[in-house]
Amino acid sequence: MKKTIRDYNLYDKKVIIRCDFNVPIANNVILDDNRIVASLDTIEYAINNGAKVILLSHLGRIKEASDLANNSLDLVAKRLEELLKRKVIFVDVTRGKKLEKAIKKMRVGSVVLIQNTRYEDLDGKKESSNDLELASYWASLGDIYINDAFGTSHRAHASNVGLASILPNGIGFLIEKEVNILERSINNPKRPFTVILGGAKVNDKIGVIENLVKIADYILIGGGMAYTFLVAKGLNVGKSLVDKENIDFCKKILDNYSSKIILPVDNLVANEINNSSMVRVAPSDNIQDMDIALDIGPKTVTLFNEYLMKSKTIIWNGPVGFSEIKNFSKGTKALCETLSKLDAITIIGGGDTASSVINLGYKDKFTHISTGGGATLELLEGKDLPGISIISNL
Ligand code: AMP
Repeated sequence: MKKTIRDYNLYDKKVIIRCDFNVPIANNVILDDNRIVASLDTIEYAINNGAKVILLSHLGRIKEASDLANNSLDLVAKRLEELLKRKVIFVDVTRGKKLEKAIKKMRVGSVVLIQNTRYEDLDGKKESSNDLELASYWASLGDIYINDAFGTSHRAHASNVGLASILPNGIGFLIEKEVNILERSINNPKRPFTVILGGAKVNDKIGVIENLVKIADYILIGGGMAYTFLVAKGLNVGKSLVDKENIDFCKKILDNYSSKIILPVDNLVANEINNSSMVRVAPSDNIQDMDIALDIGPKTVTLFNEYLMKSKTIIWNGPVGFSEIKNFSKGTKALCETLSKLDAITIIGGGDTASSVINLGYKDKFTHISTGGGATLELLEGKDLPGISIISNL
């Protein structure tokens, strides 16, 4: 068991909380504040327990100086202030006198947000390469370190692994919740346990398939990755996405686990990927040379529903169609509708799957929508996450 924020007396302590405020922003507007909202429990707990709260987060990627302005956390600070209903002191630098002065002035219950940790990547990737001098500097600003950034816990950066290796540490409520629900579902699932896998490439999901095929009762495969499996079965998929290097992997999985792997029996196909192209339903054994399969078809929705309706635990990673385009979001929407009505544990992996189901209007309809994309995948692969492994055990 990992130490948590509950295991410390926070009163009058400077508590550094690593959050994941990596939210989508366009034209100076936060498009989805889910990750900020998901961080509130830990921040509010720290405030209510008398901590001086120092927040760290990354936002986007910083490769050159022109990336700085677009990836400042100032908008996040404003949104956080609205959500917390209290002053958030935003310090627009990652180190130096200005920051140290702001921290010196802190009182019990006050909140400081430090500028994007990846500003430090401009000079030799200090944050992303877990630079010890940087971690030591940030550690000198606080007394206790709490990691609550689930979305970056699969990376070893100065603001998570570096800080945790220096300060007394624990996890926050968000990481605790994410890990508990995902690990419980994998290690001791209520059965039948069904996994829905979609998204673009088989390559990104090989580790997940290898790990979960042993544990799950059924794996329903849709999205771009389904067509590599259909090729492995000897079918023509026209111009659909095929991950040529992984056809043999798909063959092996189909040979060893034929009764667990459920593939599309029909598909929505078009000749172009846009909303005005003509869409047809094509059975999986009758896809034409010019066709691009971009969504599961109605018979596949019915087939998948039969498995979902008898399931007690469902984990879903990857949209089952090209869901950014309305014409090809029907399968993903239909599965959202089914899951939203089930009496089962329903978990949505982060990243593209989370954005798809939220954009389709199903934000509050599942047991859990993960805030991590890569981190969720690595947990589902059965890997250790360095940002969590480094935290002290009880
Ligand atoms: P991933 O990040 O691997 O979960 O992949 C998500 C992406 O897969 C989304 O951008 C989808 O548009 C894409 N995708 C889903 N189904 C298909 C498909 N049939 N053909 C091509 N791309 C797809």
